[in-house]
Amino acid sequence: MKTLRFTNNDVLHAIGLGTWKAKGGEVKKAVKDALYAGYRHIDTAAVYGNEKDIGEALEEVFSEGDILREDVFITSKLWNDAHQKAYVIPAIENSLKNLKLDYLDMYLIHWPVAFKPGIGFPEKPADYFSLKEVPLSETWTEFEQAKNDGLVKHIGVSNFNITNLKKLIAKASQTPEMNQVELHPYLQQNELLEYCASHNILVTGYSPLGSGDRSEQMKANDEPKLMEIPEIVSIAKKHMASAAQVLIAWQTKRGTAVIPKSTTKENIIDNFKASSIQLDEEDMKTIKNLNKNYRFITGKFFECPEMGYNSIYDEE
Ligand code: NAP
Repeated sequence: MKTLRFTNNDVLHAIGLGTWKAKGGEVKKAVKDALYAGYRHIDTAAVYGNEKDIGEALEEVFSEGDILREDVFITSKLWNDAHQKAYVIPAIENSLKNLKLDYLDMYLIHWPVAFKPGIGFPEKPADYFSLKEVPLSETWTEFEQAKNDGLVKHIGVSNFNITNLKKLIAKASQTPEMNQVELHPYLQQNELLEYCASHNILVTGYSPLGSGDRSEQMKANDEPKLMEIPEIVSIAKKHMASAAQVLIAWQTKRGTAVIPKSTTKENIIDNFKASSIQLDEEDMKTIKNLNKNYRFITGKFFECPEMGYNSIYDEE
């Protein structure tokens, strides 16, 4: 398995298990299947509502004694309603309690958007704080504190563009160690990756397979199907691999981590085995030409110009 290395030499398996949209017994089983298949990297978030189920899976697996807590890298994320100073550490403590852990390997600011406490999904401008009222730097100071206190080993962000990263870094004592963003052949984000590399920020790619299990309201009409792109299918045939494996192997070859979500055991195993697919330069060139800056997760649902949130991803 390829790994990514943090500046303190901690390592992260490049292929992890995504868990958004997976709940209850389904995600509990998926996490156990994944750990038994060799995964050592699990991605969740408070807003996914599955930390308790994942916690049960982890507790059961760790109690068997073959896989230890320190073998597994577990990421969670702060929801947008807990950005104020007083809310950050309690949110981490709540995630730890749900996950039955005494530290998180990584904690991320889920989105560069702040909501009022208790707002899961905003419906009106009054549900937001502007970034003047609750700046990301206020949230970040608490992240730094949590790391210093040993509640979390690594701290980072998600859905941050270069402008947001620059603003955060300008006021930070510690640079974010990770930026988790949407990445796949239709959204390659080369400039963002270059910026992150030049600041020692690792990158994790989300929705690597096109997030096909999102609810219909979240989807655009005629969304592309990444696993059906003819060039991807043809590269998969060449390597006797699945299209999903090619999409995953492309990410690890570019040096990013990748967190395909699956609750189907065969897919969980298939995705993990992408680590043995060796894409060649020609494959990489073919995939490079597919970029069209297409986002599945547009962030439009958090746009609120009245509160200063214009397009989440546009650079200033
Ligand atoms: P995704 O991983 O791109 O796609 C998941 C879909 O692909 C599911 O329908 C899954 O079905 C299917 N699938 C998985 N492996 C497959 C295979 N080998 N062959 C065929 N189909 C396969 O979608 P995602 O959940 O949006 O993204 C992955 C993870 O990234 C999330 O779960 C979450 O952890 C993270 N994420 C983070 C953010 C953020 O804001 N930070 C946003 C989105 C996602 P089965 O379950 O049946 O296999």
